[in-house]
Amino acid sequence: MQAMILKQSGLPLVLEEVPKPQIGPNEILIKVRVCALCRTDIHIIDGDLTPPFFPLILGHQIVGEVEEIGKEVARFQKKDRVGIPWLAKTCGQCEYCITGRENLCDKARFTGYHEPGGFAEYTTCLEDYAIPLPFSLSDEEIAPLLCAGLIGYRAYQKASPEKSLGLYGFGAAAHILTQIAIAEGKEVYAFTRDGDTKGQEFARDIGAVWAGNSSDSPPLLLDAAILFAPVGHLVPLSLKNLKKGGRCICGGIHMSEIPSFAYKDLWGEKSIASIANLTRQDSSAFFSLLSNISIHPQITVYPFKELNIAVQDLKKGKIKGSAVIRIA
Ligand SMILES: [Zn+2]
Ligand SMILES: [Zn+2]
Repeated sequence: MQAMILKQSGLPLVLEEVPKPQIGPNEILIKVRVCALCRTDIHIIDGDLTPPFFPLILGHQIVGEVEEIGKEVARFQKKDRVGIPWLAKTCGQCEYCITGRENLCDKARFTGYHEPGGFAEYTTCLEDYAIPLPFSLSDEEIAPLLCAGLIGYRAYQKASPEKSLGLYGFGAAAHILTQIAIAEGKEVYAFTRDGDTKGQEFARDIGAVWAGNSSDSPPLLLDAAILFAPVGHLVPLSLKNLKKGGRCICGGIHMSEIPSFAYKDLWGEKSIASIANLTRQDSSAFFSLLSNISIHPQITVYPFKELNIAVQDLKKGKIKGSAVIRIA
């Protein structure tokens, strides 16, 4: 099969012929149709996250068709449409796994990191970690829901705004989450890179009641803020914009250093927390919510061979919404 390979830190990913994967008794073989690009892929390419080994096939927002099932597979049949997210495996035995927090499992394995990902014609997955996709949304629209959507939703639950929610970094995750938050009667305040008027216009088009620069103050103090931009200095900035009791949630897997700030900015029972990975329970809650809410991810589709261009466009902030790579 053909796959785009990360051979060492940095671009380019290289298109190569590699062996088609084999499946075990509890696994399914998936013919990949599309795979969306995530900021985590960029952190792995750039070496912000150290890859466990090279060469590596990235990509963890995979939509495909089941082509083969292992002997013991019960949840899927050939031809089913299926989604593969970041969480590929957990131990099932540690203190985190047995208390509903498998996202924190020390032995967790991740798709497109420890396991080969979706920037390839085929991939495999343990059936217990694959997501059935019976929705009417297209493959391209579903792909960014599998990480940007899911992580955004987990961050949103942790932020649990009464009404007003600030989103810093208005990319893939924020534009999906905005649609969910509005459907639930919340007000979204969007903060983009300073001077990114196009990004601010995009946020208002999606339904944000206010959009401005990250260094701006919103017209009122907010219940909660979620930081999708991996920029540490946004933490103290966002704290200043929170009400007493407000929550600052960091949604990314990597962030630049957080500068020191005055205790008075945290005072009043404000809190800061991070979001790490996701659980299978998050996936089922999120996808059952989507059967009641109509959302439409905005996507830019790239052919497989242009994956390197998509990575560069995402790094430059040129993509409105999500970049999706069409494999088949
Ligand atoms: Zn575990
Ligand atoms: Zn991701």
